[in-house]
Amino acid sequence: MKKIFVTGGAGYIGSHVVKALGEAGYEVLTYDNLATGNRWAVLFGDLVVGDLGDRPLLTETLRHFGPDAVMHFAASIEVGESVANPLKYYRNNTLNALQLLEAVRELGIPRFIFSSTAAVYGIPKTIPVSETAPLMPINPYGASKRMSEQLLADLSQAHPDSFRYVALRYFNVAGADAGGRIGQAYRNPTHLITRALKTARGLYPSLQLFGTDYPTPDGTCIRDYIHVDDLAEAHLAALRHLLDGGGSDIFNCGYGHGYSVREVIDLAKNISGVDFLVMEADRRKGDPPALTARSDKIKEVLAWQPQHDNLEFIIRSAWQWEQEMEERLNSRS
Ligand code: UDP
Repeated sequence: MKKIFVTGGAGYIGSHVVKALGEAGYEVLTYDNLATGNRWAVLFGDLVVGDLGDRPLLTETLRHFGPDAVMHFAASIEVGESVANPLKYYRNNTLNALQLLEAVRELGIPRFIFSSTAAVYGIPKTIPVSETAPLMPINPYGASKRMSEQLLADLSQAHPDSFRYVALRYFNVAGADAGGRIGQAYRNPTHLITRALKTARGLYPSLQLFGTDYPTPDGTCIRDYIHVDDLAEAHLAALRHLLDGGGSDIFNCGYGHGYSVREVIDLAKNISGVDFLVMEADRRKGDPPALTARSDKIKEVLAWQPQHDNLEFIIRSAWQWEQEMEERLNSRS
């Protein structure tokens, strides 16, 4: 049974990948500092509570587990926060990736799967954007991830026989486990779908709509929303690629088409049945007008076949999760 070491496995995306790995029969170890993750979200394998900055603990945990591959999810992920607090992003994302890679090299771990982001593209000249487009991030979040991609590219070039990686560039990840066991559970979420649904539940008085004067058909930003379980399957496909001897590579993870913020809000109102208050606000710093993926490469090379390319399904699964979480919180109190 292959062993996979997962940083950030207690977080939103990491926990869905741990679930998929466990269900597929891999042996998983999660390493997470629980800054934004939750113990209950780790459905398979053990959890070591630790920080990537704690080099002795990290190295010792890795050495003891002896993984066949590392999957690295632990990171800070909010564009707005990265503009306000860039050093946090260069530390948590770039510096921690460097430290992890040093440990990975020291121990000779040969495979690495990296959570990258569409934010590395900045404002692409053409959309859907392909993996070969220039990387020109417009916020520190995207820049911190682009630097980590550079570390991986340089490292794999220096050691082509003993280190291979796949970087997956996520577009807008949303939705939750259909079984209702896990989902997004941040204390103060900023992402559109979660924020809209929490507003529908009355947890916020209104939803801010950031920018209505973008050069898009309805003036609001367009994003490519991908269901978290489809994204998890992309990781398993990337892992099989590396285990089968495939070379280092980079793939977009999105469906290839997008929805405007207004379209998402309308559907969230429809699914929740709540006509929540929407306040039009200024543009949020660091937001590109439109970002959708060319996704033919991952389909061809990794044989990835999305199952949930349907915004209604995505929002419905997130809405079910919001109610599930409420029940959990109530049953604990
Ligand atoms: N957005 C919004 N109100 C919110 C949260 C997000 O209008 O409360 C917009 C945001 O400006 C962007 C889109 O929704 O245009 C997607 O933002 P999100 O934070 O979900 O993901 P990102 O694209 O930044 O990764």
